Amino acid sequence: MRLPKAGGWVQQQPSPHPRTHTSLGGPIEWYTCIVLPPSAQQLKHVLTCVRACMRACMHRLGPGRIHHCMRTIGVATRAYELMCQRAVDRVAFGQRLARHGMVQQQIAESKMEIDQARLLVLHAARLVDAVGGKKARSAVAAAKVAAPRMALRVLDRAIQVHGGAGVCQDFPLAYMWAMVRTLRIADGPDEVHMMSIARDELARLAREGVIQVRARL
Ligand SMILES: Cc1cc2nc3c(=O)[nH]c(=O)nc-3n(C[C@H](O)[C@H](O)[C@H](O)COP(=O)(O)OP(=O)(O)OC[C@H]3O[C@@H](n4cnc5c(N)ncnc54)[C@H](O)[C@@H]3O)c2cc1C
Repeated sequence: MRLPKAGGWVQQQPSPHPRTHTSLGGPIEWYTCIVLPPSAQQLKHVLTCVRACMRACMHRLGPGRIHHCMRTIGVATRAYELMCQRAVDRVAFGQRLARHGMVQQQIAESKMEIDQARLLVLHAARLVDAVGGKKARSAVAAAKVAAPRMALRVLDRAIQVHGGAGVCQDFPLAYMWAMVRTLRIADGPDEVHMMSIARDELARLAREGVIQVRARL
């Protein structure tokens, strides 16, 4: 991607450390770097280039994060279906797991949480279409935090309902948990997204006159 004003460009390069691996065992193969021609290497140009690069990244990140959320909801839904199948198949303490009240609660809570997260993601996607990624930033951040947290809770319940089988490789649940867990860190940790949501919210409430800000926050 070119950065015309700054005279530089952003490019993806193969990692010089091919043996660096994520928790899932996959190699980290690419990284992103800003390339500056010799003429643009003064501080002023470097700063312009970094700003332009950040703008370019931010423009792409909103839809990218929604994409992560959609896939995460897909993973949670798959785990939910496996949990339900296990609950109707497996007999423990004289009856099917699905007849135990606590298992029913796990199923009900998972269903409610998946639907809540799906609506949050749909809301963020609709806002990105309607007002653009920048103005939809808070909604996208909320979806980016909520979807992996929800999926991890659902996966944890699905693993529990499977018992020992849930943590072995006959089922994909443990692998799915490790995969989704990285999403609470990749693309910005939860804390940073929540910091940005809180800042935007305080600014909005102040703008709308709901709260009075008497000192600089
Ligand atoms: C699987 C995976 C894929 C990735 N893919 C990419 C990629 O494609 N491109 C890319 O550029 N990067 C990528 N990353 C990097 C990722 O964006 C960073 O790991 C992430 O932003 C956290 O930065 P860090 O690892 O330096 O942790 P740190 O910045 O050291 O943060 C560590 C922890 O400190 C806490 N913390 C940090 N900041 C705050 C704060 N402001 N307030 C409160 N607590 C805070 C959080 O708990 C955080 O998890 C990837 C990471 C992973 C795990």
